Amino acid sequence: MATFIPFFIALLVTSILYKTVGWWGFLVIFPWIGASISLGRHLQGKLPKGQKDMGRRISILLISPVFLLFLPIFNKENLQLEGIVFLLLVGYFSKGVIHYAIAKVFGPLIWGRGFCGWACWTAAVLDWLPVKKEGRIPDSIKNFRIVPLVISIMLPLMLVFVFSYDVRRDYLYKQEMLWMIAGNAVYYVLGIPLAFWLKDRRAFCKVACPVSLIMKIPASVSLARVKPTKNKCVQCGQCNKNCPMDVDVMGYISQGEKVRDTECILCLECSRVCPVKAI
Ligand code: SF4
Ligand code: SF4
Ligand code: SF4
Repeated sequence: MATFIPFFIALLVTSILYKTVGWWGFLVIFPWIGASISLGRHLQGKLPKGQKDMGRRISILLISPVFLLFLPIFNKENLQLEGIVFLLLVGYFSKGVIHYAIAKVFGPLIWGRGFCGWACWTAAVLDWLPVKKEGRIPDSIKNFRIVPLVISIMLPLMLVFVFSYDVRRDYLYKQEMLWMIAGNAVYYVLGIPLAFWLKDRRAFCKVACPVSLIMKIPASVSLARVKPTKNKCVQCGQCNKNCPMDVDVMGYISQGEKVRDTECILCLECSRVCPVKAI
């Protein structure tokens, strides 16, 4: 039954948004996302031991066309952070703002960084790269994420206030798709080499993604968390070794605590590899 929870949540979100905003696209997007995540959860349960993460990676791959094809074709809005700053600057409440609110600001109050684990279109590519993770990326390098965050916010601000870029005339319905394509291209152009260079598929998430820093704020108080079971942790270290986000899972679980680290993307790898089902 737990497998279907994402699908039920998606149906709830669909009905609320369709009733309030009235756009038919919501009837496609959210059921598709919910069904894909439920399928991934189901596959995680069914696949052989060493291949269970394939279920999540299939989910994230199935969801990516929603953001990379469906929305660009039928909605033509830029969902990247710079686009949201433009929209907020002119007080234009659009579907892009709804996406940001659900996936990156208010949703994470419930499902933490589940979007990063199961629905992000950038990670949909990164997670399939033929890279074998070697060690942890130092925390000092991870702090570098503040630079792209500042750039993503300052760029639209400067264009509007210094170079008099007219958002309503030049951006809305005209250059939004160009910004979306350019923003995504930058993410992939940075994310793919970073994965090979730092030997970590999720290197971009850890050292360069500006959105991750925004999501970490609501994720710090999220409801859904990886938690210990009644079984006792034998401190084998497998969870730490296999966590794609370098979370000190053992530190939390061996103390009987829920994992509060805001880097957790709810991929459930730690639970899968635990030999005593302590997670
Ligand atoms: S950290 Fe950024 S790139 Fe990585 S999964 Fe999350 S939103 Fe996507
Ligand atoms: S703590 Fe567990 S669920 Fe969270 S990212 Fe690490 S392996 Fe995935
Ligand atoms: S994998 Fe399980 S037993 Fe091993 S350290 Fe992690 S929680 Fe403890």
